[in-house]
Amino acid sequence: GDLAGLVSLVANTAYLRALESDSNELRMRRESLTLPTPKKFSAPRAALEKTYESLCEQQPIGRKLFQQFLLTSDPQCVAVAEFLEELNNWSAAEDGTKEKAKQRILSKFCQPQSQTFLSFLTAEDVKACLSLFDKNDKAAVEQMREATRKFLKGKPFLEYMRSPFYYRFLQWKECERQKITDRYFYEFRSLGRGGFGEVCAVQVKHTGQMYACKKLDKNRLKKKGGERLALMEKQILEKVNSAFIVNLAYAYQSKTHLCLVMTLMSGGDLRFHIYELGKRGIRMERVVYYAAQIVAGILHLHSMDIVYRDLKPENVLLDAKGQCRLSDLGLAVELPKGKMTCQRAGTTGYMAPEILKQEYYRTSVDWWALGCSIYEMVSGRLPFKDFREKVQNSEVTRRTLEDDCKFEDKSFDGPTKDIINHFLKKKVLFRLGCRNDDPRTHTFFKNINFHRLEAGLVEPPWVPKPNVVYSKDSEDFRDNSEIKDVKFDAKDEKFFKEFSTGAVSVRWQREIIDSGVFDELNNPEVNGHGQENMWT
Ligand code: ADP
Ligand code: MG
Ligand code: MG
Repeated sequence: GDLAGLVSLVANTAYLRALESDSNELRMRRESLTLPTPKKFSAPRAALEKTYESLCEQQPIGRKLFQQFLLTSDPQCVAVAEFLEELNNWSAAEDGTKEKAKQRILSKFCQPQSQTFLSFLTAEDVKACLSLFDKNDKAAVEQMREATRKFLKGKPFLEYMRSPFYYRFLQWKECERQKITDRYFYEFRSLGRGGFGEVCAVQVKHTGQMYACKKLDKNRLKKKGGERLALMEKQILEKVNSAFIVNLAYAYQSKTHLCLVMTLMSGGDLRFHIYELGKRGIRMERVVYYAAQIVAGILHLHSMDIVYRDLKPENVLLDAKGQCRLSDLGLAVELPKGKMTCQRAGTTGYMAPEILKQEYYRTSVDWWALGCSIYEMVSGRLPFKDFREKVQNSEVTRRTLEDDCKFEDKSFDGPTKDIINHFLKKKVLFRLGCRNDDPRTHTFFKNINFHRLEAGLVEPPWVPKPNVVYSKDSEDFRDNSEIKDVKFDAKDEKFFKEFSTGAVSVRWQREIIDSGVFDELNNPEVNGHGQENMWT
């Protein structure tokens, strides 16, 4: 009634306001923030990962501090820092400015008469780089990087480790390792619900960064035996790193829930876009774009020997810009090359014949599910199950195994029918994506430049409106079937702990840099004699 309407309006308003958080307000909120003193044991712990690559290249804060160190060091180090910067500029440059960037690099750093000449480059290095540069090759950058890496790993790295910059790094690491609890976030309305609990929008108090928090109910997990799957989902999410798959930023536990804090996808899931916004289905230009991003996400998973197994529009989410990512890796499995499984997994209507027949399978099942998903995006129904059709699973299975896919909707054009037919080949050997072939080369994708797509340079064909919540009212997610009287034993507690690893290092450091907190706290006056628990 009216009250429910009001409750949902208030929930939406708070969430939409947080999405537009004002940076000044945030800065006020964290005025008292200071950096902790590194604990005695934190230095040896850092030693475990004390490689140059990890400390000075892979970790965003480490990389920044090492660069700042170089700039205060001797002239050769300053030159190297500038050189690395120029090299990045060259990589990112579009064709028009690429030649200029290259000439600048050559004259500044590769000419012996230049003041910023890198004297450690051998004549061989310079010659090799020149010829590589002419081919505009990625290998050129790699070779130059390798040459400088060799130099930096020596004396500069040793000096860095004894410098205040490294002390500052340890301070940040101390913050990174803090225990994460509910108090680290503000919580907003729920965005959806899944098998083990709801997904809420949350905001990190001190950075203002918005995320989605998937809350898995501990009682429910135990009762339904979902614990192992939850841990798998967390471990796989943590491992993948793609623009087309949601990222994991934190994993922690509250008294009642295990929580996965991930990229916030405020544009809603594709199921919502197919069915809840007027005419069923999605416009073809968008279908092609989303399908291309899904393909890129699937290929990333397959390259890591991960089979997704739960591809369907409901699990593909849009961000605020209108780009999509795969989410919900709860059914994903890692199957090293040559290993197969015959486990039944997936959602009715999207499961491939080989799963339904309980045969051994690997990555083929994801391409089948993509065929079903493209079909559904176009026509608002599944190939073997009509919209809202009440039908037994066994009948869907029968149709999947025996029937041909029909295209009654007039929205299907030639290339679309063709790619769907090739993804829906009942025999794996004939299926697109399973014959040592590349689905990206199909004519369905003729207007997509996958290189540019992967670099985030292709404009989305549709952008979500900033003041709309693309999900059903949060009231609809209420779940009344509470499960009580579940007792946890030592084994459960051990599992909860294994799950709750806190901040994911690279994501956390990015958040600190992107939010401006790094720059605010990095001035020399912030000396690290703050209270112990200032972050939560
Ligand atoms: P389950 O594994 O139980 O199916 P999901 O991970 O699919 O749970 O999440 C359930 C729903 O919550 C999704 O269908 C989606 O609508 C919403 N949701 C999940 N993750 C996000 C996210 N990162 N951003 C926004 N909404 C999300
Ligand atoms: Mg789901
Ligand atoms: Mg799931």
